[in-house]
Amino acid sequence: MTGGVPSVADAVVIGAGAFGLSAAYFLAREGAGRVVVLDRYAPGSQTSPRAAGLFKLIQGDELRTRLAQLAIETVLGFSEETGVSLPVERSGSLLVARTEAHAAMIYREAEQSRCWGVELELIDAHEAQRLAPYLEPEGILAACSIPGDVYIEEPASLLTAYQQAARRHGVAIFGHTPVTGIRVRNGEVTGVTSPGGEIAAPVVVDAAGAWARQVGRLAGASVPVVPMRHQLYITQPIAGVEPSFPIVRLIDAAVYVRPARGGVMLGGFESDPLPLDPAGRGESFSMDDVPLDFTVLEQLTGLVDRNLPALRQAGVQEHRGGLFTMTADGLFLAGPVPGVRGLWTITGCNGSGFSFSPALGRVLAEWIVHGEPSVDIRRLSPERFTRHFSDEELVAAAVWQYTHYYAPPETGSDEE
Ligand SMILES: Cc1cc2nc3c(=O)[nH]c(=O)nc-3n(C[C@H](O)[C@H](O)[C@H](O)COP(=O)(O)OP(=O)(O)OC[C@H]3O[C@@H](n4cnc5c(N)ncnc54)[C@H](O)[C@@H]3O)c2cc1C
Repeated sequence: MTGGVPSVADAVVIGAGAFGLSAAYFLAREGAGRVVVLDRYAPGSQTSPRAAGLFKLIQGDELRTRLAQLAIETVLGFSEETGVSLPVERSGSLLVARTEAHAAMIYREAEQSRCWGVELELIDAHEAQRLAPYLEPEGILAACSIPGDVYIEEPASLLTAYQQAARRHGVAIFGHTPVTGIRVRNGEVTGVTSPGGEIAAPVVVDAAGAWARQVGRLAGASVPVVPMRHQLYITQPIAGVEPSFPIVRLIDAAVYVRPARGGVMLGGFESDPLPLDPAGRGESFSMDDVPLDFTVLEQLTGLVDRNLPALRQAGVQEHRGGLFTMTADGLFLAGPVPGVRGLWTITGCNGSGFSFSPALGRVLAEWIVHGEPSVDIRRLSPERFTRHFSDEELVAAAVWQYTHYYAPPETGSDEE
């Protein structure tokens, strides 16, 4: 041991957010040996605990659907598997269309998701209101009920659960220990440096969230993600709102709503989002420094409050935000980092890293330990980006992905 951190490990994970902690837990479970996690701040304190906590089975392709199914299976079975408590609300969800184009999109997505094994039902506006009594049916043209969707009321609880489960498997987790260097010899990772000391290790996982690109550069590697702000609020308690009400996603407004702390949580995707890279904002930048702007959420609320009138009267009990890591093609970035053997990454959340972390962490760990993932995620590997993006190109592509989160144009729903 040097300065508190061990001097040797079999794998070092950089970043103790949802991705890093999940990867660390599964690395240990899969038999990686001595696993160490280092975080520049308190473990589980940055973007992940600020998430909405939503899981979503309807996805744009079969791979992400399979991973979403695995993620929900994993969190539902987590307490039994690990002995660590993890409350999960099995609320189901409703996907709601208020335009003809979005109704057509729901029908298409429902058909393909059903083929990929997702249980769902197409319903009308009145059935939607019966299932979600906080929803007014006015103007709803079509809806899809997905009973298997879930949410985690307090996202911090997943991070605590990962840490407890990881520690039970012998993982050592160090907060306030930034990785300041990644040692590379002959194109191969040999370890990391930090103020807590050096750790020699043949495997290093970059799970540094909004800092992932910067951390990749420590090894001379490219991890092309763009941090982008995302916000939500939680109202004061509203009479009659039950935790079991389904999550509601209104596609045209790009807004999601769920029960939260007796009130309602609302978040959404503005059309003019804010890219914000911690690089260049100083060493002490943290998620507490992300500038929040409530007018964005007021505007999004104005798009949906005729269907959710309770939002109009209720005061706000929390307004929070953090940074997504967007990629140029909207897919996760998970796999070996080209050019540096032994360096892996798990990032590029594109707004869904909290909910996919149980699956991606597990599958990446299998890939690292056994040389083969049980779900073929090679498509998500960073090697798909063979060409260099300028910063401007990368940011433009990332903004495009953010603003098309619910309704990509190939669904024919981009006109409005
Ligand atoms: C408001 C909001 C709502 C969201 N809602 C959802 C949702 O409902 N469902 C969903 O799936 N996703 C949601 N997300 C996205 C989700 O939060 C992210 O995808 C996820 O948290 C990403 O996890 P992470 O581990 O990459 O990042 P983080 O949690 O930020 O973890 C990265 C860690 O790396 C550490 N680090 C950085 N640099 C270093 C270094 N040099 N050395 C050591 N450590 C370092 C950081 O300190 C940090 O703790 C939401 C996000 C926001 C902001």
